[in-house]
Amino acid sequence: MMESVQYVVVGAGISGLSVAYGLHRRNADVLLVEATSTVGGVMQSEETAEGYVLEHGPNTVVSNDPDLWQAFTDLGIANERVVAGHAGSKRYILFNGTPEPIPMSPGAMLRSPLLSTAAKWRVLAEPFLPRAVTPDESVINFFSRRLGLEPAQHLVDPFVSGVYAGNPRELSMRAAFPRLWEAEQHYGSIIRGMLAGSGAQKDKPKGKRELFGFQRGLTTWPQAIVRALGAERVWLNTQALRLQPVDGKWHLTVLRAGQETVIQASHVVLTVPAYVVADLVADLDASVSQALRTIPHPPMAVVHLGYRRADVAHPLDGFGMLCPSKERRLILGTLWPSTLFPGRAPANTVLTTVFVGGASNPAIALQEDETLITIVHREQQALLGARGAPVMSRVIRWPRAIPQYVAGHVKCVAAIERLEAVWPTLRLAGNYRNGVSTIQCWKDGQELAARLPGAVRTAQPAMEQARG
Ligand SMILES: Cc1cc2nc3c(=O)[nH]c(=O)nc-3n(C[C@H](O)[C@H](O)[C@H](O)COP(=O)(O)OP(=O)(O)OC[C@H]3O[C@@H](n4cnc5c(N)ncnc54)[C@H](O)[C@@H]3O)c2cc1C
Repeated sequence: MMESVQYVVVGAGISGLSVAYGLHRRNADVLLVEATSTVGGVMQSEETAEGYVLEHGPNTVVSNDPDLWQAFTDLGIANERVVAGHAGSKRYILFNGTPEPIPMSPGAMLRSPLLSTAAKWRVLAEPFLPRAVTPDESVINFFSRRLGLEPAQHLVDPFVSGVYAGNPRELSMRAAFPRLWEAEQHYGSIIRGMLAGSGAQKDKPKGKRELFGFQRGLTTWPQAIVRALGAERVWLNTQALRLQPVDGKWHLTVLRAGQETVIQASHVVLTVPAYVVADLVADLDASVSQALRTIPHPPMAVVHLGYRRADVAHPLDGFGMLCPSKERRLILGTLWPSTLFPGRAPANTVLTTVFVGGASNPAIALQEDETLITIVHREQQALLGARGAPVMSRVIRWPRAIPQYVAGHVKCVAAIERLEAVWPTLRLAGNYRNGVSTIQCWKDGQELAARLPGAVRTAQPAMEQARG
């Protein structure tokens, strides 16, 4: 029998969950289909028998959005949210083999060894430099040109690694950091653009920016959305295979319990990774399909190591440390979740979460678990003074981790917009489109759900709504 729905949302990562939840709140008839046995996509948490709480994908979220806090209240998980204290704003960058705090004020910047005196003066010249005429350029070119080579190598390069696990020589400035690119286009300077931006925001009511997680891991959030949607509206172990327009509706063929089933829908929202969308839209528009297929997704490994507190010399008094590529280390960076949030590691132990691979060194992410544990432990011995052997280790591999917004990405997004103009009942959302951060994916999903046509599902009875 053919299932018939108003909306089918494909992919239950945070993008798909956000769209499905937004539509559900508008009383739409939504079915969410997910290929794996769990929701959350790369947002996956694990509570180990030893008492660690591990994040296998994103570790933290940053927001000041009152609508998000309201969504957590509506979902019944507001009390489970944990906000990082002062330690969350202290971050280190590796500099000549030593962790150096990132300066957070102009005074600290003046004293910091991360930039030479000449480089500090060079940064101050940025507002007086001419605007570029190139339509696009790499992230490293952009920052070297505007701020100088030292800030680009010592500050921007590790930041890019922290967000994209990317190579700043390959990422497109315009696609990866559109607001800074636009600041130069409109104001002739990123510093002037930022000042103008903060002036324009002055009168708007501002929420407090918070860096947060959940007591039992970020996965609390996806699971709460499933409860709100109703488990029967979320089909797990259901892989989308083909998408065809038939008589003004969509037929989505899925593989479920070993059988092909067709879902008929008035609207389809694809939130699966770009390389999966490429297959699903191939018959609708070969050029969009090709553009999506070429977005690189280098592999990344996440290595969790627990140590006895006494066995690590560094105080781990912050969010973590990023390693610029100039330092030539084998890790991209290390986070210290047990400093940020309570209950992440058993008493008298600490948890370090280390990222390896990405665009600059993809091969290392595919090494055997034991090799990765040894590499990461050696790096932490050298950089953080880890002495004894780890008391806990766990390796997670993401063969296709984070999409890279490389040269040509802006054209790819324009091609997607053209596809949507031709097929107004088909929408694409996901981390390859407007930004890779969890919060961007959530926001895009909410905004998309608000723009889509209204509900056909009859309003829920008051009792059911009250239960949420
Ligand atoms: C290791 C790692 C660390 C990160 N750290 C952070 C961080 O600290 N902060 C931050 O803001 N961001 C972080 N990110 C980025 C952010 O988490 C992701 O960009 C975001 O969660 C992606 O959400 P998504 O829903 O767009 O995609 P995904 O999470 O990839 O979800 C896509 C879903 O589609 C499903 N799917 C695939 N094919 C099919 C099919 N044929 N049929 C049905 N379903 C299918 C998948 O199984 C998956 O569930 C990190 C990412 C990674 C990988």
